[in-house]
Amino acid sequence: MNVTIAYAEERHAVIAAQRRCWEQKMQSGNGGNVSVRVAGSDLMAVKATDCSFQGEDVEAVVIARLTGALVDGTRTPTKEALLHGAIYAARADVNAIVHCHSPWAVGWSLTGRAIPNVTYHSELKLGGPVPVIDTGSYSVAAHQIDTVLAGFDSASGLRAVVLQGHGLVAIGRDIDDALCTAELVEETAHIAFVGSMLGER
Ligand SMILES: [Zn+2]
Repeated sequence: MNVTIAYAEERHAVIAAQRRCWEQKMQSGNGGNVSVRVAGSDLMAVKATDCSFQGEDVEAVVIARLTGALVDGTRTPTKEALLHGAIYAARADVNAIVHCHSPWAVGWSLTGRAIPNVTYHSELKLGGPVPVIDTGSYSVAAHQIDTVLAGFDSASGLRAVVLQGHGLVAIGRDIDDALCTAELVEETAHIAFVGSMLGER
């Protein structure tokens, strides 16, 4: 019997993106979450809570309203669905979000300093140091969402922030754009660390 999966394209986009993060060791265990906007609606496909980036089960991705309310799926949306939805609500240009606990970016965030654009490529693509925001928790509370949104400086085109001791959040016009930004932030944090060990910065 064929069972039709609602929003299959969006669900598979989330799964493929999460798999790419997992393969690059940007997320292990069951942390992090990726979402994509369902075009022309107030819906998003977002990872369910307690699911791994490694998995390929479409049930691990649910369809939720931008408020975080479940619309389609058998599992509970990630606790960070509220943050994803708030970003989509505030930024019509954003259609995908990658949030992962990538070790170089999170390691650098412990300094409390923004990740500097230490390479020509990061300077070109990131458009400024990546801000580090301390929410004092493993998650982003409703009253902290505006602070995170302010970290995405639309004037300079900056499309990433790092939550201190937690993980990076990258936004994009599509899922590949958000992934490339997340990867560039992680790469830049790694290179910045190497440079600092060599006494360059
Ligand atoms: Zn997280």
